[in-house]
Order: sequence, then C-alpha cells, then structure tokens
Amino acid sequence: MSPAHSVLQDAFGYEQFRGPQEAITQHVIAGGDALVLMPTGGGKSLCYQVPAIVRQQQGHGVAIVVSPLIALMHDQVGALHEAGVSAAFLNSTLSFDEAMDVERRLQTGGITLLYVAPERLNTPRFLGLLDGLYQHGGLSLFAIDEAHCVSQWGHDFRPEYRALSVLHERYAGVPRIALTATADELTRADIVERLQLESARLFISSFDRPNIRYTIVEKKDATAQLLRFIEREHAGDAGVVYCQSRKRVEELAATLVGAGVNALPYHAGLPQDVRQQNQDRFLREEGIVMVATIAFGMGIDKPDVRFVGHVDMPKNIEGYYQETGRAGRDGLAADAWMAYGLNDVVNQRRMIDESPAGEEFKAALRGKLDALLGLAEATDCRRVRLLAYFGEPSTPCGNCDNCISPPAVWDATDAARKLLSTIYRVHAASGIGFGTGHIMDILRGKKTEKVEQFGHDRLSTFGLGAEFSEAQLRSVLRQLLATGAVGLHKVMLESGHSFDTLCLADGSRAVLRGEVPVQLRESTAAAPRERKRRSPAGTLSPAAANLDQDAQVRFINLKAWRAEVAREHGLPAYVIFHDATLAAIAQQPPRTLDDLQGISGMGAKKLEAYGADVLRVCAQ
Ligand code: ADP
Ligand code: ZN
Repeated sequence: MSPAHSVLQDAFGYEQFRGPQEAITQHVIAGGDALVLMPTGGGKSLCYQVPAIVRQQQGHGVAIVVSPLIALMHDQVGALHEAGVSAAFLNSTLSFDEAMDVERRLQTGGITLLYVAPERLNTPRFLGLLDGLYQHGGLSLFAIDEAHCVSQWGHDFRPEYRALSVLHERYAGVPRIALTATADELTRADIVERLQLESARLFISSFDRPNIRYTIVEKKDATAQLLRFIEREHAGDAGVVYCQSRKRVEELAATLVGAGVNALPYHAGLPQDVRQQNQDRFLREEGIVMVATIAFGMGIDKPDVRFVGHVDMPKNIEGYYQETGRAGRDGLAADAWMAYGLNDVVNQRRMIDESPAGEEFKAALRGKLDALLGLAEATDCRRVRLLAYFGEPSTPCGNCDNCISPPAVWDATDAARKLLSTIYRVHAASGIGFGTGHIMDILRGKKTEKVEQFGHDRLSTFGLGAEFSEAQLRSVLRQLLATGAVGLHKVMLESGHSFDTLCLADGSRAVLRGEVPVQLRESTAAAPRERKRRSPAGTLSPAAANLDQDAQVRFINLKAWRAEVAREHGLPAYVIFHDATLAAIAQQPPRTLDDLQGISGMGAKKLEAYGADVLRVCAQ
C-alpha cells in the first residue's frame, strides 16, 4: 500500500481516493506543482492534506495552507485534530500569547498543517518565520485554497492573493498546489499567470454533481413558491436560500420564520458578531435555513445541506454552480431550486448597463448572463447545458426538472414577431418607447386608458395577438430579452423615478425575418405541476432512509451522542462523524471495535477516541 493510501485509511477512514485525488496526491508528494479544478464538494481538501501528512512523515516539515476564510479556520483545524493530525492556524482571532505558542510549535516541527490568511502571509514577521524554516528544509508544501480569489474575473477577488507570487520566487523548490472550484478559461489562465504556475500540472475533474437535482421554475410569487418547496420537500432540512439584496434577505428570513421555518439572515451589512453567530448556528445546529446574499458560503463545508434555493437569479453560471454546489456535499440526494422571471432579466441587464465598467468588460458580463438565461429558458436537460458550459460533454441526466417531466414546448415564432413589430410601431408612431405591460396590452387588443390616450389602438398590430395569454407573451419577451433581440432603454421622469422601455436590438432582425425559430416552454405559472415528494417530510436524513426500525433508533441515539461530543469540543457535529458514517454504524450494528473498523469515515484516531462510546450507544 502506498504511503498516501495508508494515510487516507488511517487518518480519514476512507477506503479509496475519489476521481483524480490519487494522481494529485502522488504528484504533490513527489514534489510537483499542481493546479486543481474540482467542483465544490469534489474533495479538494484531501488533495493537500494527504500530501502534507506524507511529506511530514518523510521529513519535509510543515505545509502552509493559504485560505481566505478566517471565520472557518477554527473548524478546519478542529476537523484535523479529530482525525489525529497536528494542525494550527495563525490569524487575527488569536491572542498574542496564542500566536507565540503556534510560532514556537512551528519552529520545533510540531505542526503538520498551518492555516494562514493571505494578509498574514505577507507580513515581514511571517515571511521571516518561513525563511527560517526554508533554510532548514522545513517547508513541505504550499496549498493555495480558493485560488480563484487571485483573479478579478473570479467572483471573490482578494487583492492580497496577488502577493502570493512571492512563494514561487522566495521558496523555490517547495511544491505548490492551488485549488479552486471555478473553472472558466479566463479565470484559469489568470490564476496560472498571477501565481506563476506555468509549469504546474493541471488536474481537471468532472464537474458533474450527480446527486444534485436541478429545478428552475417560473417566478410568480417567489416567497410563496419557496415556502411550498420547503414545506413539501425539505421540512426540517438544512438549506441555503440566496437573494440579491440585503433588504430582501431580511424580509425573506422574517417571512420564513413567521411560517415556522428555522431561518436566519446573513449578509455583509450585518454586524460581524451577528454574522459569525448565525454562521456558527448554521454549522452547529440541525435544520437551519440560511437566507443570504452571495457574501455567504465560500468555504462552508457543511456536508448535509439538503437544498440551495435562489429567489433571485445570480449573475452567471459560475455563480449559480458554485452556490448550488453547496448542496449535498455528502453525496446524498439534494436539490438546487431557482425561481426566475422577467424582472430578473431586466434587473440583471440594467445592473450591467449602469455599471461604471468599460465596454469590453460589460460585453463579457452580458455574454455570461446570456448563458445563464439560456439555462433558465432551456427545455432540454439542465445538467447537459451546465456541463457543456464548463466544456464537458454529457447525456441527459434523468435528475433535473426537464428530464423528470419534459416541458411542453410551443412554437412562439409568430408571437415573437408580433411583439417585435409592436415595439417597432409604437416607437415609430409616438417617438418614444413603452414598457412591457403596455406593449402586451396593445398586442392583446386591450383598450386601456393609456392605449387610447396614445391612439395605439390604431396601430396595425393592435389585437393581433389576442390569442396569446399574458403569461405566454411574458415568457416570449423574457426570451427575446435573454437572446438580445429586445433591449432596454431607461427613461428618467422629472419626479426622479425611472422606468424601462423596450426597444429593438441587433438580434431582432433575424427573428423578424423568421430566420430563427423561437421554441418556448409552455408557461407553467398558471398551473404549477405537482411534483412527487421524494421522501416524506421530516425523515431523519437521506442517509437513514433505508434503515429498519431498530437501526433508526440507533441512528437517533448516535446523533444525540454526537451532538453532545460536538458541543463539548466546540465543533460542528459533522466534524465528529458524518450522517452517512452514523447510518453505516447503526445498520450493522457493531459489537466489537473490530466491527467498527473499515466503516467509511472511521479513522484510527476516531476509533480510539470514540469506538467504546459508539458501542455503548448501539447497545442501549
Ligand atoms: P471541496 O473542498 O472540494 O468542496 P471537501 O474536501 O470538503 O470538498 O470534500 C467534500 C466531502 O467529501 C467531505 O465531506 C469529505 O470528507 C468527503 N470526501 C472527500 N474525499 C473522499 C474520499 N476519497 N472518500 C470518501 N469521502 C471523501
Ligand atoms: Zn437532466
């Protein structure tokens, strides 16, 4: 057995490496540099933790892990301690004495992995420490976690990451492994350049997360739809719901609490201590729904998040994938659910138009938004589209809304042309543009006050689309906006208010000439399809779904015992054991310590520390 493999079994209690983990660990143990692209939940941590342990055993000293997540370092280090690995962190939460103690242990070779924030790494004091270690061959490797933070193309740009190029220059020969879940070409090239990883080997995993079910519904009343989704499919489960604005976060969290959901808010505008407290509760308690802006989530490694919801559309597919990827890290069934509507398109378009960025940058943003809109409008497999975006071919998945119940499709070419020509005629007749409601009124032949006031009932397209429902026209407009056939023009009123009017854009000509057929999903807003629940509300965990009654009781007892241990150690419960590990124990049930050996997640240290207790709980 290779040293890497025995560390995997011994420290972490896992039988086998997953995907490219083995190749990556071998490469880094041998002293190579690596750039690792793996989806969230793919198992990046082991890619540097296993080499760190093996290289320490070989006498190479300490591994330095650069991580932007000060708020999570305590738990990350705690998880390693539980596995019997000597680890520590240095950040601003430590007192002077504590920091001195860590420095002392560092110098005497007592630490296998040291977590630091990038701003700490760049201080003269810390570089001095590293210099000292380096001179005696005491630096085993550098791991740069969340490496996309180095790029302004990524969504979490951290200027301090730029200074990490110092590692290569100052500590030549020490292997470096950079890891990220952000995969697009632009960011990838940027990471390589900024961190000088030109000669690093690139490891790209499949980005598929087969246990996540993707669903995108048409937005009617997002709050009510979300509530129904939670009540029907995820009562009592932990989840994250993303909103665009802080205000919306607070409103939605309050509404959910009012409806009996255990929800908490999180956004960058909350005081630091409230944020930390809410994050801790989310990680430590069961079944909390975090309502958050994108400020929440990076580095959150809670494995049993059962759903991620979006009540507002993210900016691009990278963001969507990263956020939804936080569901189901434990590999058990999980949901990614999004409500999406015309306003999302309008808002996102406007934010890009109004941003102070240069035209080239805006064009890139629009391209990325369009790809996401394409996904939302898709009538075929969502996963195929998502993976194609990351350059990965695949076949229909059977685990997304479109695969499970293929949407009815209608040919909207005629409706699209009529809408475009109404937009054109209104503008020609009145010299100004109008909003979506008015355009639809004209086409549907509604004699509103406004229609009569402007004489738009005399336009040749008035009433030409009487056979279309408003919902249908709305989805056509959404698609036309999404594909760039229709643009938005902002009109400022003297009162200071503004509204958006529609205008024809470059893509309209091809549609008007009938060159591009417009295929749309039948609007489901009127009659939401009832979806069958996968498991009755209130089940313990998908991990325990197949346990018989006795085993369920053991599982519940084990969970109660785990909660106690976690509280004593000041750590989240999943750091002690995952649900899946408890379920495997409950199923057996074990009578001797030997029976416990080989259960996934039961490393040597945990067996020693908890084995007797686990047997006792099972015997109850
Ligand atoms: P990432 O950092 O890529 O999002 P993690 O490193 O947090 O992912 O790993 C995700 C989950 O998968 C963790 O709970 C981890 O314990 C588990 N895991 C990783 N590698 C393996 C493996 N080889 N066998 C079993 N479980 C694994
Ligand atoms: Zn599918």
